[in-house]
Amino acid sequence: MEWETVIGLEIHTQLATTSKIFSGASTAYGAVPNTQACAVDLGLPGVLPVVNKEAITMAIKFGLAIGAEVSRHSIFARKNYFYPDLPKGYQISQMDHPIVGEGSVDIELENGNTKTIGVTRAHLEEDAGKSLHDAYDGMTGIDLNRAGTPLLEIVSEPDMRSAKEAVAYMKKIHSLVRYLEISDGNMQEGSFRCDANVSVRPKGQKEFGTRAELKNINSFKNVEKAINLEVLRQIEVIESGDEVVQETRLYDADKNETRSMRSKEEAMDYRYFPDPDLLPVEVTDAEISDIQDHLPELPAAKQARFEKDMGLSTYDAAILTVDKDLASYFEEAADKSGEAKLTANWVIGDLSGRLNKDDKTINQSPISADMLAGMLKRLAENAITSKMAKEVFEAMWNGEGDADTIIEKRGLKPADSGEVEKIIDDIIASNPDQVEQFKAGKGKVMGFFVGQVMKASKGKADPAQVNKLLTEKLK
Ligand code: ADP
Ligand code: MG
Repeated sequence: MEWETVIGLEIHTQLATTSKIFSGASTAYGAVPNTQACAVDLGLPGVLPVVNKEAITMAIKFGLAIGAEVSRHSIFARKNYFYPDLPKGYQISQMDHPIVGEGSVDIELENGNTKTIGVTRAHLEEDAGKSLHDAYDGMTGIDLNRAGTPLLEIVSEPDMRSAKEAVAYMKKIHSLVRYLEISDGNMQEGSFRCDANVSVRPKGQKEFGTRAELKNINSFKNVEKAINLEVLRQIEVIESGDEVVQETRLYDADKNETRSMRSKEEAMDYRYFPDPDLLPVEVTDAEISDIQDHLPELPAAKQARFEKDMGLSTYDAAILTVDKDLASYFEEAADKSGEAKLTANWVIGDLSGRLNKDDKTINQSPISADMLAGMLKRLAENAITSKMAKEVFEAMWNGEGDADTIIEKRGLKPADSGEVEKIIDDIIASNPDQVEQFKAGKGKVMGFFVGQVMKASKGKADPAQVNKLLTEKLK
């Protein structure tokens, strides 16, 4: 039997406001526990929440960016449950009237096609505090600094058909919230996390199978692993004659397994009702169009611009625009060097490879865009060969200064054409057999000659120039 996977994601992204969604306390990460929870966050009697306008604006930005309907009238509701890190006994969230309605995003598939993934809704809510189970022996500590941090919960349609598609969608949303500057997207710090709803059905069947919800996965890698594991588990359950039960499961990254947290029967009734402490949020058309007018350039537009104005391939432009900071770096280096394609090659190739190797982000690159541009200029004007460029790159990475300093200090200079010609003459003279083969039409020996010349010049010759001279002389 062939099986088809069905996935829908609920992504929680912390909004990058400086204060909380219903109080003035700071949202800064990493403070001493319980120093950033005020009376409102603690749920003390007699206090009243006041909604943070910036959080509303950020949610609207997201809605506009995915082409969604933005509600002119949205309602905050109380979601009631008891848990130690939720002092009020309820979470303020949105139920029937979320701020953002239906929208969609496009993802690129591995075969190069694009696929549209529906977004059902995005609603605002407050984050809970944190339970610290390992901090005290035999006790659990509660840190309420996170309580009241604004969250935008982005709920997708069950439109994804593989773990890879789910990851592509998650990356797309991640890229988008970073472009919009509404979240730092920091997954280690929990600013961007997701619940994955997974089911399987026989290929060709219309109805969805029963789903399990995998809770709180906080890396792209783990989303892929958790979904793939869960799919195998569900197929096994069904093929052995049992039924998948609707439940919430936890993905354990250390053990690489999912296990049951609670089943549908144990699911809570949250007794949602409109929060009487908060007025409905009214947004005017003028406010929405003002936000629309101030949206930054989004990845798709930037990609199109890179293709059209800078002559990049779709592939290169797509890679360079996934991350906003990488795109800015590329654009600065391309502007300063005047060599868009060459810059794209180096940013995607050598630079990204080096960053990966040292586990650094583009913002931590020891080579600034300005420095890379300086080196690429010299390369483009043939003041150094590409082999020398790699040497300069490595030296810049290791903090030896900018390209010109390194070129000067190391005396890097391509061989002049006189030197190269002499080497070529020598090589031709000492390899008569290969010359015969070339004359007989065996074009492949060209590679042999170029290699010999490059070796003899100790990499100082420019391969393009060698090719040209060799062709002339051999003919
Ligand atoms: P709940 O409120 O119980 O979490 P929702 O209906 O809001 O349930 O769905 C939550 C998420 O589950 C959505 O992202 C949706 O796309 C996804 N989903 C719903 N049914 C399925 C299914 N059969 N298989 C996979 N995902 C599903
Ligand atoms: Mg859910």
